[in-house]
Amino acid sequence: MKLETTELNWFVRKTSDRDETFYILVEEELQRAREKFPSSILSMTALVEEVGELAKALLHYRAGKCEFSHIIEEATQVAVMAQRVAVEGDASINNADYQEPNNET
Ligand SMILES: [Mg+2]
Repeated sequence: MKLETTELNWFVRKTSDRDETFYILVEEELQRAREKFPSSILSMTALVEEVGELAKALLHYRAGKCEFSHIIEEATQVAVMAQRVAVEGDASINNADYQEPNNET
């Protein structure tokens, strides 16, 4: 995903406009993600991976190693995976042969 907006354009826009753009990016990325990875297997793992990539992007931006658009890109992917976990669940967790320990004494 490449944002067409420049970093300057992003920051001079109103917060509500940035919100709206972000929702559109999430919707577009959600469709791409579902086409590329239709299964919900390991979706929670993918969410955590994306959270790590977002943190890395923030650090790289601070160090001048990437554009702010990379942060938006990673944040979009985090939002998409959070939505997929919420809507589709995670088949690898749902199907795991695991029992919560009984903590009653
Ligand atoms: Mg990513």
